[in-house]
Amino acid sequence: AHPKASTIEVGSGKVSPVKIGGGYLAMIAGPCAVESAERMDAIASSIRDSGANILRGGAFKPRTSPYSFQGLAEEGLEILRDTGDRYGMPVVTEVVDPRLVDLVCQYTDMIQLGARNMQNFVLLTEVGKTDKPVLLKRGMSATIKDLLMSAEYIMAQGNSNVVLCERGIKSFDPATRNLFDIAAVPQIQELSHLPIIVDPSHATGRPELIPPCALAGVAAGADGVHIEVHNKPEDAMSDGPQALLPEQYAEVMVQIRKVAEVMGKQI
Ligand code: PEP
Ligand code: MN
Repeated sequence: AHPKASTIEVGSGKVSPVKIGGGYLAMIAGPCAVESAERMDAIASSIRDSGANILRGGAFKPRTSPYSFQGLAEEGLEILRDTGDRYGMPVVTEVVDPRLVDLVCQYTDMIQLGARNMQNFVLLTEVGKTDKPVLLKRGMSATIKDLLMSAEYIMAQGNSNVVLCERGIKSFDPATRNLFDIAAVPQIQELSHLPIIVDPSHATGRPELIPPCALAGVAAGADGVHIEVHNKPEDAMSDGPQALLPEQYAEVMVQIRKVAEVMGKQI
């Protein structure tokens, strides 16, 4: 780990603040997209009982096809905020447009910048002007240095609350959705004081590979794990095939706690 590892705090108001980095692990979980209040409630209730400490859900989805579900927009933000407040969990959601940064900030505790926007410098700059913690995901074709330079774009505006996320990079092999770059975790910790978490859901795209990669991430020193969970993956509006069921999430959390203890980390 970096000798001066930063600890970033997420959440205030009706939620319990969560620390990330410097010995504290973020356990971010929830559906890819916010789909309805009922579904969000069911998912949040079960993942919170399993030990998730930050609730995720996309309201603006960056989809490969313009004809795919694009998210519930502001209605999705309202549902996410309300669910987080009722379960006492800080929330994180993605912003895809510099014109929507103010709106998203009204609802969220942490702003997610997705892989596809890691080098959207206008968006990075706008988010850097806010005081919200940022979850900056590694671009699918971005080097470690590219990722760190994108974090600089945010910090150069005065917002130093940046958490990095390894979510897999493009490879020649279609066996997994992306290639999980586990070595990025200790390399980034050598170069940067910022927390770095892993996202085995987008990195592998395959539920059966998520638990081993989540555990490997924590064992490699990651400051948290981001996992997509859905109670009806076959009905999901996005990323259903890679979602863990709530009971599968509960199982992996039991194992994550054991590895966290070995690593001397707190959830
Ligand atoms: C997501 O978190 O749902 C997402 C779109 O992730 P990424 O930007 O890593 O593809
Ligand atoms: Mn997703």
